[in-house]
Amino acid sequence: MPILDTINRWVIPICNHTTFKISKKGCFSLPDFSTKTIRLSTFDYNNYLKHISNKKEYCIFADLFRFMRSIILKTREEIELMRESALIVSKTLGMIASEIKPGVTTLYLDKLAEAFIRDHGATPGFLGMYGFPNSLCMSPNAQVVHGIPTNKPLEEGDVISVDCGALKNGFYGDHAYSFEIGEVAPEVKKLLQVTKESLYVGIREFRIGNRVEDVGSAIQKYCESHGYGVVRELVGHGLGKKMHEDPEMPNYGKKGRGKLFVEGMVVAIEPMINMGTKNIKQLKDGWTILTADGKPSAHFEHDVALIDGKPEILSTFKYIYDALGIVSNEEDEFRKIPLTF
Ligand code: MG
Ligand code: MG
Repeated sequence: MPILDTINRWVIPICNHTTFKISKKGCFSLPDFSTKTIRLSTFDYNNYLKHISNKKEYCIFADLFRFMRSIILKTREEIELMRESALIVSKTLGMIASEIKPGVTTLYLDKLAEAFIRDHGATPGFLGMYGFPNSLCMSPNAQVVHGIPTNKPLEEGDVISVDCGALKNGFYGDHAYSFEIGEVAPEVKKLLQVTKESLYVGIREFRIGNRVEDVGSAIQKYCESHGYGVVRELVGHGLGKKMHEDPEMPNYGKKGRGKLFVEGMVVAIEPMINMGTKNIKQLKDGWTILTADGKPSAHFEHDVALIDGKPEILSTFKYIYDALGIVSNEEDEFRKIPLTF
């Protein structure tokens, strides 16, 4: 019986900490179709399977199978390990915040970051990944993401996305912040502010009952209302033992579409927002992504877990804010556990 194989091989081992629902008729179903919630771990599968007899229920299981096979849910213990990896990245960015200024080269900052990550018992997540040559992606001004560190000093008025990854205990952290170098133009400051706000607008939609494009459509609506371009070709992603897991998390979309959010999902949400056109191009180095019109771009990223039906941010900008003397409570609504690391 294929459905029995499906459940035994995939659903039970992968989502035994996940809440699903069962209808009044006893129909096991995806969360948005049903009335009564049960814990999958206490569900009597064998007894229930005796009652699976119709095509509709088979289709529901087939959907569940497809969904679960691609998205790897994390246990609470795994999420705590992921929090540790995320916070190593956060602290690395905090260290960068205290070093980044006019005259400093991105290659110098990259070497500092690599040493810092290793000193914290982790491995740089980007170094060597798909052949990337460094530990940080550093993308100034018109560069959107995936910029390679260079010997060119940063200049007053630059804006730069610093994206960092770390691997510890088998799990990745992946987290980014766009820094202002000295005084930047007011319109660039506004781009950074709106992009960061859009990150939280998106994170707010990462909750039980919602779907992938609920996050993207919220980010898109918010940024386009300010006249900015939302990059289409690059997206956020699931995060775990691999840097890029399912689902893809686009920063655009239509409400109510895409894969359902389920307890235990961990994703990296990362709006990449352009001051002008949404269109991009790639440098011949095979990495650097630039805006097609040469106008600036901004990028912020947090790692977020779905715990008790709500988003919990695993990374933090706190270390950056401490270094820059910024006071902010923007993450408070997304953190149940106070930062202790
Ligand atoms: Mg990243
Ligand atoms: Mg990412």
